[in-house]
Amino acid sequence: MSDTPAIRFEGLVKSYGDVRALDGIDLDVPRGEFFGFLGPNGAGKTTAIRVLMDLIRPNAGRAEVLGFDAQRDTIEVRRRCGYLPGDLALYDSLTVEDCLDLVAALRGGVDERYREELVERLNLDRTRRVGALSRGNYQKVGLVIALMAKPDVLLLDEPTNALDPLVQEEVEAILREAVDEGRTVFFSSHVLAEVEQLARRVAMLRSGRIVAVNDLAEQRRLAPRRVTVTFDEAPPPGSFDRVPGVRLVSLEGHDAVFETHDAMHALIQALAEHRVQTLETHEITLEELFLSYYEEPAGAGVRA
Ligand code: ATP
Repeated sequence: MSDTPAIRFEGLVKSYGDVRALDGIDLDVPRGEFFGFLGPNGAGKTTAIRVLMDLIRPNAGRAEVLGFDAQRDTIEVRRRCGYLPGDLALYDSLTVEDCLDLVAALRGGVDERYREELVERLNLDRTRRVGALSRGNYQKVGLVIALMAKPDVLLLDEPTNALDPLVQEEVEAILREAVDEGRTVFFSSHVLAEVEQLARRVAMLRSGRIVAVNDLAEQRRLAPRRVTVTFDEAPPPGSFDRVPGVRLVSLEGHDAVFETHDAMHALIQALAEHRVQTLETHEITLEELFLSYYEEPAGAGVRA
């Protein structure tokens, strides 16, 4: 059982009329990891998470949580998951306290100590009516609901929506602790920066397909360095066309931008043929790297 992934999608397809929201997704999410599920709006993230909760049924393929089939073993799956939907809808007429009591009872009990700790840490007023809360506080109630039973798998659909930066930091700390205790966090977002510090791996979804699954540490190691150079005089066109291991990103007038993984020496030799005024080198950020996945045609990246 220990090799069973926390989440598995196999050939998952879901269409809404003509819209193919999921176009054959295959993905394994290992247990005990913080996993980023990334993609622009409309990529299909919410649809995939809803299939896991059996809120919608796929047209083909299957989804599993901890080896349980999302459609056949729905109760087992729900028992093991904490779910924060993207379109959270709570019992608006109840107070925060009564709302949490109700959900806790429906779940058949939660970790009371932990529930209290979450309410304190997220600075929630228990006496307020849920319907009168700001969007951020409403979202916090949703987070407490997802977390308070200490489930093995957390399915969080854009969880930091509407949260201010300080609260976001607290939520990140809470999720980090959950992972340290061996739970799995499946976190959907449309911005890499949000999960970059937390996630070991991320999957990129685009137009219903997984275009890449990346180990972020590995990705950082493989990312090229970018070198920006200003010359005294504009080099003639073609000056840097044949430098092995170096990609010329742009050459306009006096300014040039290069990228290289391991050919810095060759680049410096080529640059020495010209009078260099300034030279700067920096690591490409993961955001820059990932934007290329958004920009490429769907399916052009690495398949999972
Ligand atoms: P967002 O970040 O905007 O929530 P998402 O990645 O979660 O995006 P989904 O909500 O899963 O994407 O939507 C995937 C595609 O399916 C979109 O084109 C969306 O318009 C479409 N879609 C989703 N739900 C429905 C529905 N109930 N009826 C018709 N089309 C739908």
